[in-house]
Amino acid sequence: MPDYVRARPHLSGLVPGDPLHVREVGDGNLNLVFIVRSDPAVPGVVLKQSLPWVRVFGEGWPLTIERARHEADAYAVYRAFAGATNPVYHGFDPVRYVIAMEDLAALRIWRTALDDGEVHAGAAAALGTFVARVAFHTSDLGLPAQERKRLVARTINPELCQITEDLVFTEPVRIHDHNRYSPELEGVVAELRADGAVVDELSRLKHRFMTHTEALIHGDLHSGSVMVGGGRTVAIDPEFACTGPVGFDLGAIWANAILAQARAVQLGRPAGFRAHVAAILPDSWLAFRDELLRLWPERVDDSFTDALLGDWKRTIWHDALGFAGAEMIRRLVGFAHVSDVDTLDTAAKVAATTAGLAIGRRLLLEHRTLADPAAVRELVETGLSEHR
Ligand code: ADP
Ligand code: MG
Repeated sequence: MPDYVRARPHLSGLVPGDPLHVREVGDGNLNLVFIVRSDPAVPGVVLKQSLPWVRVFGEGWPLTIERARHEADAYAVYRAFAGATNPVYHGFDPVRYVIAMEDLAALRIWRTALDDGEVHAGAAAALGTFVARVAFHTSDLGLPAQERKRLVARTINPELCQITEDLVFTEPVRIHDHNRYSPELEGVVAELRADGAVVDELSRLKHRFMTHTEALIHGDLHSGSVMVGGGRTVAIDPEFACTGPVGFDLGAIWANAILAQARAVQLGRPAGFRAHVAAILPDSWLAFRDELLRLWPERVDDSFTDALLGDWKRTIWHDALGFAGAEMIRRLVGFAHVSDVDTLDTAAKVAATTAGLAIGRRLLLEHRTLADPAAVRELVETGLSEHR
């Protein structure tokens, strides 16, 4: 690794002096993440490498190495408008599939911070603003039509999209090797599988995810893909980036915020912290809406009228609630779980999962009619208080 850095002047300049200290910190499922520093106490540079398989499964689960290029492409696109919400991007090595980026080790993963009961006041609004900028600048509003079509073509990400299609929309309501949950939950999960209305909504949302190429969405914007600290909020890990429905990213934020709320209830966290977590959905939505309205006059095609803005905003709101329902369910019974719920003791985990499944189910069934954040708050609070 030191040789790799030293052979590349644009990286070497970021970590001058010898020897180099290298630490592999990847805690994700898929890739290797190296922190490279010349002074162990001073941020250096981070190198993220994809291998042709899934990290936690080794060669038994092959997965395209191209995911690193998609992540790099997303950083390169986002850096034009995302400001400090994007890690500083230092380029991509298309031979070794290595992304070089800012060393953010002074920040923490937002999910872990929420697990510990930490408040990061600006995070929700920063993410709402980020999603609005992505929605505007990578859609036909912000890009000339031909340039935008070239972006769509370049960012087609078939393998990673299929993971989402299978893991989020298909497997959780089937009997599948990937699914796991406590045996106490077998009845509740079987009921969900047998619920035709749930299966129908997942089918509609899956089709929407596959066909609505609105913007270059992040594709995996859960609290584990966000780093917070020092007043900054950074979205990392956009390897699932693809042109898809904007609501998918908001839905990922919201689903994971509701799961953090379920944890806070089970652990009896102070009311102030519970209110902070409950505000993630309204705060991110309002910031999203405000930023989209602010950018609207800058659209590149003035044949898009204000009526379209109103319709699109409503579509994104309702989509996001449906996607949030799907994301909640898959994080509770599907392949990839979340520490918010998984680190609770068994009784609390069963209660939080039962509540989360009930809320996720209602979000799926009611996402087209829920009018505003107050209506969602009521739905979530009802679900949390009925299963504590
Ligand atoms: P994966 O694609 O395997 O899920 P992530 O991009 O989520 O990998 O990174 C895995 C972990 O590595 C993160 O949870 C975080 O702890 C750490 N990490 C990732 N990027 C950085 C960075 N730029 N600076 C510091 N730590 C990072
Ligand atoms: Mg990842």
